Amino acid sequence: MKKTLNLFAVKVRAYLFYIFIFIACLTFSNPLETFSSFSNLGSISGYKNVILMIGDGMGYNHIQVSEAYNESPLFMTEEAEVFAWAKTRSFDKDITDSAASATALSTGEKVKNKHLAIHEGEHFVTMSEFAKAYEKGVGIIATETLTGATPAGFTVHNVSRDNTDEIAMEQFENEVDFYIGAGKDYYDGKKKEMAMNNLSYYTDFNKLKADIDLSFYSEKTIFTRLFASFSSISTTTSSSSKPSLEDLSIEAINYLNRKYNDKGFFMMIEGSHIDKRAHDNDIFGMIDQLNGFDNAVSAVVDWARSNGETFVLVTADHETGGLMYHGESKEQLSNSMFTTSDHTGVNVPVFAYNLKELNLLGDDMIIDNTDIAKLFHAMIR
Ligand SMILES: [Zn+2]
Repeated sequence: MKKTLNLFAVKVRAYLFYIFIFIACLTFSNPLETFSSFSNLGSISGYKNVILMIGDGMGYNHIQVSEAYNESPLFMTEEAEVFAWAKTRSFDKDITDSAASATALSTGEKVKNKHLAIHEGEHFVTMSEFAKAYEKGVGIIATETLTGATPAGFTVHNVSRDNTDEIAMEQFENEVDFYIGAGKDYYDGKKKEMAMNNLSYYTDFNKLKADIDLSFYSEKTIFTRLFASFSSISTTTSSSSKPSLEDLSIEAINYLNRKYNDKGFFMMIEGSHIDKRAHDNDIFGMIDQLNGFDNAVSAVVDWARSNGETFVLVTADHETGGLMYHGESKEQLSNSMFTTSDHTGVNVPVFAYNLKELNLLGDDMIIDNTDIAKLFHAMIR
């Protein structure tokens, strides 16, 4: 009798083992399909720092047009280890706006257009809050005013991207280590609010750089949190009043890497005006902005590769302008290649650099924009 029972137990264990193997096969056999709806990615180790770079409105055709103009490949395409695609629709529209898409990239959740990390009263955890929960540094850089929909989707909760003053106040009050962007005239009127929230305010790039450099030689970093704003951001060389996105990104990395050397950091860097020039159907203005963004990608990826523990992902929040490229040469490029002054719903490119788990994301894979947030969360966790 005892022997029969033991045999029964062995059979049960064998069945359980086969069931486990069957489920495991279903789960792991097709990573292409499982990735696009992953919700239990768990934690991915080996990435102390994670950097998300967003070309606002940057469709793949914008990249092709810029490469035709430059007559050479961009760094972002040439050096990408993975070239995938992301779907961008929002909760309520096939064609997203930058608020809903920033929310998707930041929180992993879909919201209605114009909404920032909030849906029917429910607040979704922004990437900034998520990184702070894991004691990481957080930095936000944009070439637009920092209350803009993309930086706002990573830092605040609001029912409308148009509630500028509320967005600014929530950005001053939260835990983000620094904000760097445009909009100097607006922020010059907010010095008191910034001081009340212990934010050091900078409008001179050379001063910002000097203070960050100085912080390398003192025991403690000079500032707890900082806010830097300029009238505009350069697409080429830096001056004290008009720094380039590339130089700002490197200074920001220096600052965060020094301050959070043990825990690491999350940073979002946005090339905001690719979208705005495309809304204007200004093809050469768009190319100039995209080239400036690509310079920043190049500097950031170079740093990430030398650091070894830093993941960089470059994508867009949506395409703007319905730009049609059919292999035109530099001389043939014109504003008439835009087919709309609005956003479109086409999938946007996703480029990854320094991704060790290449089974997670592969060339030509189509993921959802919310998956990008989930990937970052898994790396931060
Ligand atoms: Zn736009």
